[in-house]
Amino acid sequence: MKYISCRHLEHGIAFFSKSIECCCISSHEGGGNIECIPDYFGEKIDWDKFFEERKKIRDLHKSGQIYPKCKGCYYLTEQDWDDENYFSEMLIGHWSHCNCNCIYCYTDEDKYYYNTRDFYKVLPVISEMLDKNLIRNGGEITFGGGEPTILEEFEDLLGAFLSHGINNIRIHSSGIKFSPAIFKGLSEGKVTAIISIDSAAPDTYKKIKNINAFMNVRENIGKYAAAGGNLYSKYVLMPGFNDTLEEVQMWLKDCQDLGVKHIAFDIEDHWFKANRHHIPQHVYDLFDFVIKNNAYYGINDYQLYERAMNMREDRKKEQGLND
Ligand code: SF4
Ligand code: SF4
Repeated sequence: MKYISCRHLEHGIAFFSKSIECCCISSHEGGGNIECIPDYFGEKIDWDKFFEERKKIRDLHKSGQIYPKCKGCYYLTEQDWDDENYFSEMLIGHWSHCNCNCIYCYTDEDKYYYNTRDFYKVLPVISEMLDKNLIRNGGEITFGGGEPTILEEFEDLLGAFLSHGINNIRIHSSGIKFSPAIFKGLSEGKVTAIISIDSAAPDTYKKIKNINAFMNVRENIGKYAAAGGNLYSKYVLMPGFNDTLEEVQMWLKDCQDLGVKHIAFDIEDHWFKANRHHIPQHVYDLFDFVIKNNAYYGINDYQLYERAMNMREDRKKEQGLND
């Protein structure tokens, strides 16, 4: 049936530290944060009840109304939605422990708290969902908490997705710990792994990450790149730390030396929000440089994240420029 809805509302589930929600989108008028199960800490789920609740929101949309928490969300589209009960969009974000200390991370405000916070195991519930065929391809499974590779259950968890043929799994990792399951997923073309190295030298890395792990991360990027899949080396530009042409060129050269074929280039969130309306020219120039020259370094494709896209759009509007 054709009506206005969204892929998360129809087939999404997001595991957070204390609840299960539909999605992780919250910066629109309605505010998002649609709790499906509040106070969740790994308990067994009554799926009939879960889908009954989801049906109420679905029916509201079928009647032409919009669920108040979804109002104004850019994910809403009018299309033919199937009426089945399954999940194809999933966020696994129930923990915040990490083996890295990026100064731009939300966990930097209280690292001890975020590294010691209790979390539950998702493998039992995910295994049950896979066995019941509740997870299907067509969307994306995203790991978006702290560092996935340090979760005790991570290798088994990713292995379970892979052995059930789930083929679009996106994992952000610090790259400090090598994961055989990520390597396998990359080589099978089912995993996209993004590793933010943000630098081309140990000193710069240490300033941004507060840990001496540059060589280790570099080595792991090389190992993952050898798997031949969607391994992205990511560079979050942090003005004052890693915003020289020399460093960016060295990073691209290093990508080439390591056989990296995909890159992501972004601008640091706090800095961007504080400086959005007076971006220095050299920051624009660095983005232009990466976009124009990445192929020279053997890169097959590059991604700009939302902030970087916004920054370039702002400039186009202000100066009437075309790419
Ligand atoms: S419309 Fe937006 S807020 Fe509502 S479920 Fe979809 S992504 Fe989440
Ligand atoms: S690797 Fe990710 S989760 Fe870990 S500190 Fe850095 S930004 Fe935060």
